[in-house]
Amino acid sequence: VAETFDTIVIGGGIAGVSALAELARHGSALLLEQEPSLAAHASGRNAALYRPLERDETTAALARRSLEILRTYSAEPMLRPVGMLLASGDPAVIDAEAVHASALGVPHSVLSQSQCGDRVTLLRGGDVHAGLMLPTAGVLDIHRMITTLAGVARDRGAKLRQSAQVLGIEVESGRARGVRLADGTRVAGNRVVVAAGAWGNQIARECGSRVQLVPERRHLMLLRAEGPPDPHAPVVWRLEPRQELYFRPESGGYLASPCDATVAEPHQAIVDPDVLEQLADKLGQTAPPLAQSRVSQVWACLRTFAPDRELVLGADPALESLYWFGGLGGRGMAVAVAAAEALGTLVAISRAPEFALRMSPSRY
Ligand SMILES: Cc1cc2nc3c(=O)[nH]c(=O)nc-3n(C[C@H](O)[C@H](O)[C@H](O)COP(=O)(O)OP(=O)(O)OC[C@H]3O[C@@H](n4cnc5c(N)ncnc54)[C@H](O)[C@@H]3O)c2cc1C
Repeated sequence: VAETFDTIVIGGGIAGVSALAELARHGSALLLEQEPSLAAHASGRNAALYRPLERDETTAALARRSLEILRTYSAEPMLRPVGMLLASGDPAVIDAEAVHASALGVPHSVLSQSQCGDRVTLLRGGDVHAGLMLPTAGVLDIHRMITTLAGVARDRGAKLRQSAQVLGIEVESGRARGVRLADGTRVAGNRVVVAAGAWGNQIARECGSRVQLVPERRHLMLLRAEGPPDPHAPVVWRLEPRQELYFRPESGGYLASPCDATVAEPHQAIVDPDVLEQLADKLGQTAPPLAQSRVSQVWACLRTFAPDRELVLGADPALESLYWFGGLGGRGMAVAVAAAEALGTLVAISRAPEFALRMSPSRY
């Protein structure tokens, strides 16, 4: 063993680079990523949506705080605030969302059916009857986020190694002491942070942790537009579960998802051709002009959840010095940077901030 790090982070997605940037403030730190590049899985292949109106107050607050932290790291904008139109066939659904937005202090305005059609002409002729416009929502620059966070980590003295697959955690007297790599080498560390996305479960099983993480596959598609799309058009998110979809302008066309979810094994997710039909059906209801669009690209990726859909953040009760940062689900790009800040607090003072207590791995 050549060198001992204060922190070893497993995984180079948004969770890993956010944790590395934060924990590099508390001593030497090393990130290990199995792929040749960072953000090769969920963190580089997602829809990049920033939703200020999240299912609970904590998630909404983490999303706001993440942007604040990123602003201290770079003057370059990380968010294109094009807004988001939450859409429904039922005005009562939108009224309920408006009440929720007021309670969370999220700026919003309720739009009628014709106002929705004026704002996004693709909705004309569809069955959207009301919408909630969220002007502070938008599209994140996920490439800039990853490179900025990796840069901050390096500036704070951290190291990043790619093509470095961790096979297991080294355990000594009930304590994580480092990791074993696929190339046969070992790296010693005083603490190990698992930020391995969909692969978290494999690592948990290998080291005897009770943490459970379940990957779910979701598809994204690039659609060719008939005419040039309005680059400033808001993201549209249809809310009812049976009609749920989202789309937004991207690369001269539209990026869209039918919001499918299928439990999957951790791997480079394979595309299911049936989802193309699923998306076309849903678009036929919400945005009929898009339903006939040619699909120029389709890919699938994994969102990883704890069984209770809460983040998994904090110390493993079964193995001293092992920490988890996972279960980021469908909101990781928006919340990871602020969640990593909470992990930093936990490491620095051995106590998590109040809001993070329910995220503790000791709930398993
Ligand atoms: C289709 C889709 C759309 C989404 N849209 C949005 C969105 O609009 N907005 C939003 O906020 N979020 C979105 N998400 C969610 C977001 O992408 C995830 O929450 C986030 O990327 C998870 O980050 P992560 O770092 O936990 O996982 P990952 O990005 O998967 O990173 C984990 C990394 O760990 C590495 N790794 C695993 N095992 C090992 C090992 N043994 N050794 C070394 N390295 C290892 C992997 O190679 C991987 O790079 C979306 C997700 C999907 C799938």
